[in-house]
Amino acid sequence: MVQKMVREFAQKEVAPIIKECDRQQQMAEFVLPRMGELGILGICLPVKYGGQGMDYIALGLACEELEGVDTSLRVVMSVHVGLNSMALFQWATEEQKQHFLTPQAQGKKIACFGLTEPGVGSDVAAIVSTARRKGDDYVLNGEKMWISLATKAHHCLWVGRTNPEAADPHESLSAFLVELDCPGVTTGDIHGKLGVRAGSTGWIAFQDVRVPAANRIGEEGEGFKIAMSCLDNGRYTVASGATGLIRASLEASIRYAKERRAFGREIARMQLVQQKIAKMVQSYEMARLLYLRAGWMKNQGLRNTRETSLAKWFATDASFEAANEAVQIHGAYGYSDEYDVERYLRNSKGAVIYEGTSEIHQLIQAGYALGYRDDALLRCELPAYDPTVWSS
Ligand SMILES: Cc1cc2nc3c(=O)[nH]c(=O)nc-3n(C[C@H](O)[C@H](O)[C@H](O)COP(=O)(O)OP(=O)(O)OC[C@H]3O[C@@H](n4cnc5c(N)ncnc54)[C@H](O)[C@@H]3O)c2cc1C
Repeated sequence: MVQKMVREFAQKEVAPIIKECDRQQQMAEFVLPRMGELGILGICLPVKYGGQGMDYIALGLACEELEGVDTSLRVVMSVHVGLNSMALFQWATEEQKQHFLTPQAQGKKIACFGLTEPGVGSDVAAIVSTARRKGDDYVLNGEKMWISLATKAHHCLWVGRTNPEAADPHESLSAFLVELDCPGVTTGDIHGKLGVRAGSTGWIAFQDVRVPAANRIGEEGEGFKIAMSCLDNGRYTVASGATGLIRASLEASIRYAKERRAFGREIARMQLVQQKIAKMVQSYEMARLLYLRAGWMKNQGLRNTRETSLAKWFATDASFEAANEAVQIHGAYGYSDEYDVERYLRNSKGAVIYEGTSEIHQLIQAGYALGYRDDALLRCELPAYDPTVWSS
């Protein structure tokens, strides 16, 4: 049911206008309110917090359908749901959940995630933004860069340094839920991106922004751990979305290969074209199983950092490869925006970079395999799915 509902939204309402949005580098105005209205923005959160009470697999299925039409739709899920709302669900106090999570799950407030800075990406512990305690407030300074939905969001889950003197930089970061209409906050869009042009990516600058201490998520010094657990959820949405992009590349390739003729027969009859199609089938099935395993583990309340990282690394590399081969199958037509596959290729590249580059995921996987890396128990783990409690 979820899959059908999300597919209908994406295919019927967004697909007809997506090419023009991509050309104009504009997000369609109706997308966020409509996703809120349909309940997609709170899909895997309990009804008690304004969500739909569905499980984490439903989130993955939704992302697969959304990215089957355009990556910009899935990016909304990654930042609003995966990186922000699920972190509040995991780490926030009951009062913070009522205040911030409920309007987010209902789609009344849009949320983003501010980790990356102009000089800091993969090396999160090197963040230079600061949050200094002043009485009952913190004063936030610094710039966040490459922030999806920066100019659309009302809330930002922001990570900065509260204790620059800490011996271990991993323990000097803290997380805050910042309302972006606060004085001292400025935002802007980044134009000229390779892909996700129908989405919104921007920057957020903080100059002496006063945020109540009550907006701190978790304890002081827990920011690094919170950021990493946000990524466990964001990466899951990226993995499931990239799976949808593989499927879209496969479907487009099958359609075209059966229409286009060369050397007296349809190109689908050529073995080298078939090889590309077969590889896409293989990638789709593998990517799907990997994300479903991670989703199942989330449902059970099992730690899934390793499995989610593997799913994200595999699915994003495979979606880039699938989109590239889909362009190849389309020949010169694949090189023009008359067909969707050139957009798939441009969109697929971002996911190999954000939420841990492919290189970072290789380090993570090798770290687990070699025994250099292990998961310590978190003070707050992501709650397991409970159908009875979540739906009431
Ligand atoms: C479209 C888009 C949307 C984004 N949305 C958000 C968002 O909403 N919120 C947010 O906070 N960020 C966002 N980002 C930023 C993204 O998360 C970062 O770009 C990503 O983490 C990589 O950081 P970086 O670009 O600074 O690259 P760097 O960390 O500078 O890396 C540059 C290169 O060096 C390699 N490298 C770095 N360290 C190592 C290592 N130890 N070993 C081997 N190779 C290494 C990397 O793999 C990469 O190839 C977005 C980015 C894009 C493109």
